[in-house]
Amino acid sequence: MHAPRYENEGHSEVIYLDNNATTRVAPEVFEAMVPFLTEYYGNPSSAYSFGKFVEGHLKDARENVAALVGCTPKEIIFTSCGTESDNMAIWSALQTSGKRHVVTTQVEHSAIMNQTDQLERMGFGVTRLPVRADGTLEVADVEKAIRDDTGVVSIMWANNETGVLFPVEEIATLCKSKGVLFHTDAVQTPGKIDLRNVAKSDIDFLSMSGHKLHAPKGVGVLYVKRRTKVVPYVIGGGQERGKRGGTENVASIIGLGRAAELALEKLSDEQTRVRALRDHFEETLLQRLPHLYINGKRDQRLPNTSNIAFDFVEAEAILMRLDRKGICASSGSACTTGSLDPSHVLSAMGLTPARARSCVRFSFSHYNRDADIDYALEIIPPMIEELRAMSPLNADHPDNFAYDVEAAREKEEKLMAQTMAAINE
Ligand code: PLP
Repeated sequence: MHAPRYENEGHSEVIYLDNNATTRVAPEVFEAMVPFLTEYYGNPSSAYSFGKFVEGHLKDARENVAALVGCTPKEIIFTSCGTESDNMAIWSALQTSGKRHVVTTQVEHSAIMNQTDQLERMGFGVTRLPVRADGTLEVADVEKAIRDDTGVVSIMWANNETGVLFPVEEIATLCKSKGVLFHTDAVQTPGKIDLRNVAKSDIDFLSMSGHKLHAPKGVGVLYVKRRTKVVPYVIGGGQERGKRGGTENVASIIGLGRAAELALEKLSDEQTRVRALRDHFEETLLQRLPHLYINGKRDQRLPNTSNIAFDFVEAEAILMRLDRKGICASSGSACTTGSLDPSHVLSAMGLTPARARSCVRFSFSHYNRDADIDYALEIIPPMIEELRAMSPLNADHPDNFAYDVEAAREKEEKLMAQTMAAINE
């Protein structure tokens, strides 16, 4: 059988600027995994040495992952993905505390948003904290939201859409002083910011996901602080010291261990070169195009993320044209793409629906070269000018005498509804 071949209008090259959606598996990671997909297929729980050999390598991987957050290997639980880690932390905290209220934010990933919706349907209380216009969070709001029946506070470390960072260590200390467990969804952070002080902080639970740090999809991590009680979410055998049933995804865990080592090695590259690429990208676009806004507090963001509002243009139109040029970027998170609603994150920051629908997220990695950014910068400004020239939302368009984006949008939506009704008749 031949490997499938990707082609997009005759081009097979991809300029990948969507590293918050997923990342390329590093060649070193792949190399580390292969023997465990081919030769060393033993079950790590088996008593014979062929199994024990595999178990030994899992132990090494666990040590490497533990080093990423400065904890001991016993504090690491391997799961199937970031979503499972998030779900497990919240469910476990509610089970062990016996309490029925969760504090979280309005800008979490759907892993937390949809789980807390489900908890509400089951009768639990949920408080979703707002964010400021720059995407940041008031710690005082967290304090006010904690009640006597609060079982867990769950606040992401870095937002996947804007890259905005929340002061989770400070919030964890606040929670500890109130006797409340604290979880952070840190899926977007490894390899981008230094997490080695996590074990010294008051964070009880922290989620990570392999495919965001150049390991494969389908493997996740839940860090659980020593002495914090945890119950299994996936119930089965005694794997993961009885905390997560199911035979381990051995090759992917080995890959994740190698990816964790590489993430630490490349941290300074991300902080310097990748940040410089991102800053150059934003500055150049701001110089070349009017009506452009960068979402999220400029100096409190991940170094790799850029979320840009291109006023008067629909993000979907930009993304389709970028796709034709071989450039991958996104609007919203990959998990909510396809929905016509404006991003819940940008809406929570107070963007109008029209502006929120004009936003594109570009997210870089250390695999991006200067040439990728130069290519994107060559393509984007004329593309936006062309789209704006055609847009009924454009203030400078000869048909628009007043700048009223919302009214223009309403007009456009009505027209669209009429057209759709005519088609369906
Ligand atoms: N949390 C955040 C912040 C994410 O960005 C993602 C993935 O996009 C997840 C959780 C879910 O991770 P996974 O895809 O491994 O389930």
